Amino acid sequence: MLPGLYVHVPFCSRKCPYCDFYSISALDLIPSWLRGLDKEADLYAKDWPGPFDTLYLGGGSPSLLTVNDLKTLFEVLEKFPLAEGHEATIEANPEDVTREKVKFWKSLGLNRVSLGVQSFNPQWLNSSLARTHTVEDNKAAIETVAAEGLNLSLDFIFAHAGQSPQEWAAELDQAAATWADHVSAYVLTPAPGTALGRALAVGVAPKLPGEELTSELFLLTGEALAMRGFERYEVSNFARGGAVCRHNLKYWHREPYLGLGPSAHSFDGKKRRANTSSVRRWAQALSSGRTPLEFEETLTPEQVRMEEIMLGLRLSEGLPRELVKDSDKLADLIKDGFLAEVGQRLKPCPKGMLMADGLAKLLA
Ligand code: SF4
Repeated sequence: MLPGLYVHVPFCSRKCPYCDFYSISALDLIPSWLRGLDKEADLYAKDWPGPFDTLYLGGGSPSLLTVNDLKTLFEVLEKFPLAEGHEATIEANPEDVTREKVKFWKSLGLNRVSLGVQSFNPQWLNSSLARTHTVEDNKAAIETVAAEGLNLSLDFIFAHAGQSPQEWAAELDQAAATWADHVSAYVLTPAPGTALGRALAVGVAPKLPGEELTSELFLLTGEALAMRGFERYEVSNFARGGAVCRHNLKYWHREPYLGLGPSAHSFDGKKRRANTSSVRRWAQALSSGRTPLEFEETLTPEQVRMEEIMLGLRLSEGLPRELVKDSDKLADLIKDGFLAEVGQRLKPCPKGMLMADGLAKLLA
């Protein structure tokens, strides 16, 4: 089992109101971030000799990086050899995508673009999500990636205030009619600390759909995409023709990955580590020869079992039956249509996936 390599690019032109990823708009810190990555790479290159079979540039907005930034970044990443046939993804915002950029990404060996289209409906895109790109930008970016033949994943957010199932189904139809062979679709759930979370808390943003409509939209997502050949392989992820995201599967399979950059996480098979979520603190720690960690933990065997249950319930392939000890609770969940027992495995049914976290608590 080969490890994956993640690089967190923490820069965005502005903060989206629903976003709680670590990102900043101080683009003048890019040079210090690149110098920090070089030091961090030196710190880990010996213990992580590779080869890595996935590379993921996530963020933030990796597509903001210039040709020179990316050249420097890929010089740093030479310390981590990639295996033949690797998957290499860059997250991109539609407004950043140009033919020249995509050609350059391709020349670096990037072979997959995860495009944050978010919606094909201007109402959700520009008012609910306050994104600056347009539906036309989405279409142009999709065509540009397709013209260069890179694998394409489309990222969506749904369950907006006032969104109807018919409107959402129409967006999914549009997604399935494109070159993309992968779709990620997330329910809009702004964290309390975000601008949208605060606006909802004080009642100045329109209320989001309740549990019943959100469930309907969630189940509809799987059904609409299944009709176009996409299989739900994880709660929020769909692929056709086997085009699953190999990098993200490492997280759900508890396989090793090394994360570089502020707020990046790593897992070596036993120990989990998370970097500090501040470019400045992260860069200062590295300059003074310290690891830029916010936390580090080694799970007990019981915690590992619980984590395997929690992650397995997110995946259509499910989890080994032997992980679950409470047979009575399990029998109830099977009877109520949340889980199916298939051979030696427990597989979540669509309505089980909808409440994967709740089921994990019941079965832990
Ligand atoms: S572009 Fe993406 S990472 Fe950046 S603020 Fe918006 S949602 Fe967050």
